[in-house]
Amino acid sequence: MTREEIMKIVEEENIQYFRLQFVDILGHMKNVAVPKSQIGKALDGQMMFDGSSIDGFVRINESDMYLKPDYNTFCVLPWRNKNGRGVARIICDVHKADETPFEGCPRVNLKRVLAEAKELGYTMNVGTEAEFFLFEQDEKGRATTITNDVANYFSLDPEDSGNDCRREIIETLEKMGFEIEASHHEVAEGQHEISFKYADALATADNTVTFKWVVKSIARQYGLHATFMPKPIFGVNGSGMHTNQSLFNIDGTNAFFDESDPLQLSPVAYSYIAGSLKHALVCTAVNNPLVNSYKRLVPGYEAPVYAAWSASNRSALVRIPASRGLSTRTEMRSPDPSCNPYLALAMQLNAGLDGVRNNATPPAAVDQDIFSMSNAEMDEVGIKVLPGSLKEAVDELKGSPLAKETLGAHIFEKFIEAKEKEWESYRIAVTNWEIEEYLNVY
Ligand code: GLN
Ligand code: MG
Ligand code: MG
Ligand code: MG
Repeated sequence: MTREEIMKIVEEENIQYFRLQFVDILGHMKNVAVPKSQIGKALDGQMMFDGSSIDGFVRINESDMYLKPDYNTFCVLPWRNKNGRGVARIICDVHKADETPFEGCPRVNLKRVLAEAKELGYTMNVGTEAEFFLFEQDEKGRATTITNDVANYFSLDPEDSGNDCRREIIETLEKMGFEIEASHHEVAEGQHEISFKYADALATADNTVTFKWVVKSIARQYGLHATFMPKPIFGVNGSGMHTNQSLFNIDGTNAFFDESDPLQLSPVAYSYIAGSLKHALVCTAVNNPLVNSYKRLVPGYEAPVYAAWSASNRSALVRIPASRGLSTRTEMRSPDPSCNPYLALAMQLNAGLDGVRNNATPPAAVDQDIFSMSNAEMDEVGIKVLPGSLKEAVDELKGSPLAKETLGAHIFEKFIEAKEKEWESYRIAVTNWEIEEYLNVY
């Protein structure tokens, strides 16, 4: 999209407000709203904001930052049109006062990582599947974990009360230019999934943060609370965000596809899988960044626990979905939708590319149910266990030169600092579980 095309839409749709959006290190979408009179200035990347008030950005004495819009992300917000007066948004990169890209901006960082991959001859295509719950709100409008919906996997209409809401989410996304492929009720009561078409990694990261924002906004209009918290309810499935990824060659062919191989996977695909597994433990803190993320990565709920790969097995961390040709891809099943997709995709790409650079060979595929294997059997085939807590995951991340290189020193340090603080706050909290288990017994 060009500046002229945007200005034309601004006139035609009577856009009165413009939201400049960007993402902080923890993946929260932030925005600055500007009135119509400032749209030209905003499009020219001349809007400044105070970066010191954003977690993990900069120190107070170097706080002036510019928002540099990416014209391709411009869109009108269908649910914000009041009396014919519209609102639009555009996603921005954060630049420093000297107008150079800010290394603490996750979007700037992902672009750097993608440019490095391009030098190797690859682009990354990704499709994310962010699952979510729709919960009731209480009479004061506060979120609960109650759902009236008693439907389950792929249920049909009548028993699914989130259905109207889900349809409106889909229609809204379509108006914003998303190509929706399918939607279904997920396994747990109140749990949903809507899948949209894959794109290059940057567009998919943008789409993923936009998707989460739209889902939450529309749910609120239906008096529901949408949450991407990884494990809101004990005893039922949590919400994952599978990432379906592939490398494409510069000529537009899929670098993972090779007809002559028994599994029709190329040497590049095998090496990529090897890299994904080798760095799986290191990537976990970024893919699963919350204390709560680790309540999901447990046996019994379709979430992975072990670093293994398989062409079929859904208990494996990396699965190879059946489609081939241009759709040949690996599905990483551990990420959850609380992750910052800009950081998570950068880490997943560089993990895989490390395998490609070194012509690495993956361990044998594991086609049996890993949960039924003994520790000795797992050791024998070299299956590692994913970190069991945020603390273990952060320790893995800290020791990884690949992670520091991929996130850049600024994000690497700020991310670790934030996550160690989060862990410490959890560690000293007294939880309901402890009260229930100990109060009467001791
Ligand atoms: N909800 C599951 C998870 O936590 C995934 C279920 C599925 O998509 N088949 O990853
Ligand atoms: Mg799915
Ligand atoms: Mg799913
Ligand atoms: Mg999936």
